[in-house]
Order: sequence, then C-alpha cells, then structure tokens
Amino acid sequence: MMIRLSKSVVGEREVIALSKVMAHGYLGMGAEVQLLEQKLQDYLGCSDRKVVCVNSGTAALHLALQALGVGAGDEVLVPAMTYVASFQAISATGATPVACDVHLENGLLDLKDAEKRLSSKTKALMFVHYASYCGDLQSVYDFAKQHKLRVVEDAAHAFGSVYRGKKIGSFGDVVCFSFDGIKNITCGEGGAIVSADSAVIHKVSNARLLGVHRETEKLSSAQCGCDFDVMEQGFRYHMSNLMAAIGVVQLDRFEKEFKSARRQLISYYYERLKNIQGVQLLQMDLDDIVPHIMPMRVLNGQRDRLGIYLKQHAVEVGVHYKASHLLSKYGHGSSQLPVAEQLSVELLTLPLHPELSRRDIDYIVGLVQILLCEECVMSEN
Ligand SMILES: *Cc1c(COP(=O)(O)O)cnc(C)c1O
Repeated sequence: MMIRLSKSVVGEREVIALSKVMAHGYLGMGAEVQLLEQKLQDYLGCSDRKVVCVNSGTAALHLALQALGVGAGDEVLVPAMTYVASFQAISATGATPVACDVHLENGLLDLKDAEKRLSSKTKALMFVHYASYCGDLQSVYDFAKQHKLRVVEDAAHAFGSVYRGKKIGSFGDVVCFSFDGIKNITCGEGGAIVSADSAVIHKVSNARLLGVHRETEKLSSAQCGCDFDVMEQGFRYHMSNLMAAIGVVQLDRFEKEFKSARRQLISYYYERLKNIQGVQLLQMDLDDIVPHIMPMRVLNGQRDRLGIYLKQHAVEVGVHYKASHLLSKYGHGSSQLPVAEQLSVELLTLPLHPELSRRDIDYIVGLVQILLCEECVMSEN
C-alpha cells in the first residue's frame, strides 16, 4: 500500500453532521455556515474581526483582492514560491501578479527583492505562509506601511499557526484560509476571509453571492420580498451548509487531534532527517506552526532521482512548488528569480497527514538515507 502524501481525515462524526443537514432539508448557505463563521471567529479569539466563509481558498483570495479595489492596471507583489492559486486569484481581478523571489532557507517572500519590483501601479502585497511558517511577519507589515500597500495573507497552509504568540488570522490586514480536501482542516472544499476592516467584510459578504446586497434584500423582504439590488461584480463563491457541517466537526477535531499529530510528526521528521547528507531542511520555528506539508531541499541535483525512488517504494511525494513565474501564463521565466528557480528543482515534499505514523517516517527516512548515501559513496570514489 502506498504511503500517501496527504489525505482528508474524516469519519463517523463528519458523516453524522452531514446527515443532520440533509435531514433538515436545506443544503445551500444557511445556519450551518453562520455557525462555522462564528466558531472560527471564537477560535481566532478576536471579537473585532469577522470571518466570511466561501467555497475555496482561491475564491477567498480573489474576493479579498477585489474588496481592496485591486483590478485592471494594478500590480500585486507575490512570492513565486506558492500554489498557482495565489497567481490565479490576482489575475482574476484583472491585475498583474508580480512574482518576487524568496529566501533560500525557508521559501518566504524576500522583501529586498520585492522592493526592487515596486512600481507606481503596485497596489497590494500577497504574503504566502509557505509551509505554515511566516518568518518575520512584522517586517512585511512595516514594508507595506512604508509603501502604502494593502496586505492579503495567503494563509492556506497556516491554519492554527501562531506568530509571536498570536494565531494567524487574529491580526493583520486581510487573511485568507483554505479548507480544501488536504489542508489542516477541510470542508471538502472551502475557504475563509478574516478581517477587521468592515468595508472589506461587507464587500466580500455580498460578492460571494452574486453581489446581491443583503441590506436591499432585507429591506425588500420587510416590504414584499420581491426586490433587491446589485451594485458590484459578484460570484457564486458562497459556502454550503454541507461544507460548513464538515468544517464545524473538523475545527473541533483540529484542536483535539490534528494539531498535535501534525506537530509531532514534523518534529520527528526533523529529528530523523537533520543529519542526512544531501538533505537540507527548511529553517522554521517548529513550535509556532501547525505544519500542512513537509518539504525539504534535496541537494546535488538528486531531487528527481529521490522522488522516483520513493515512488517506486510506495511513498507518494510532491513538489511545493514549481515557481509560478515559470508557468506559461505568468511569464514563462521572463523575470529572473534565482532562489525560487533553485528551490523549484530542489524541493521535494514528503508525506504528512494526521494518520501518518512514526513507523511510516522511519521507513521513508530509511529510503532517503539509502538513496542519498549511495550517492555520497559514488561521489567519494
Ligand atoms: C490550497 C492553497 C490555495 C487555494 O486554496 P483552495 O481552497 O485549494 O482554492 C492557495 N494558496 C496556497 C498556498 C494553497 O496551498
């Protein structure tokens, strides 16, 4: 049997929650979505901030940017080392994603490089919590303030992580999460936008459902319920009660099971891999993160060989990521981002999910050791 790279961990409790929604007879957006939003808000512990749930992390990013007024003719700074969803969300608004280089040791946005790519069109910065870590997030906000940029945090990897003791999402400008099938918590698919900016919250709440203004809906229902208004571009990005019902259970399980499982597993990986020649672990404060993925750098051009070897031995692996500026739609490598390009050929992601065991990790690390040490021996001769 294959050791899986990632998986949804769902069971009886999620099934019961789904059955209840079905028995109730309304699967669309309603009370269950409101409940999840409330629970997320309580979890983040910030009464001044609101949570709006949508049907994907990509939708959350898209709506967040649109609510900030980002559109055609604007530029948004974004690290190249991210899922293409970050780039797609920016280009969906009509704006141009400007790929920035990252730090070799952790894959996070390099502000020195970002500074070089500022222009009069730069309107916002999308920060990506690569592999659940955020490094010196304060310096990102200082940079944004200095250059009068709004910040959207792509915290798709970082649900449950903290910065200086504060949960990601409990502070910051506009923070987006993903609850897709393999993220730290899942709704099947899903996402959320968190902000203290009431204008942003108002806009995304309307735009997620075709821009139909709630106020006008309420007003009209007080009269006859047959009139409403639409002022802005909207989408069908709302979350359904079915998705939210899964999310409510997952949030509870996150604290009780998933968080500690993920953290213990990554610590074990780090302990076992730290002295293996040819492997370079990313430098992160493991105490601050709830890890979504387990990427590592494979040196000396051995990444693909190791990836194939692991797959041959029933270990599923991944690459997070091929830098987005190398993709045809986003320039095909026309901008030079040396670190992101290096990471694109070095990074390999090992399996990580709450049902992985230490024995699985022993097996995986054993394979890594065998292949890379064979290599050391060969290079010594
Ligand atoms: C998963 C992910 C997204 C998009 O979230 P979806 O819910 O899959 O749309 C965006 N950015 C990053 C870095 C992700 O990993």
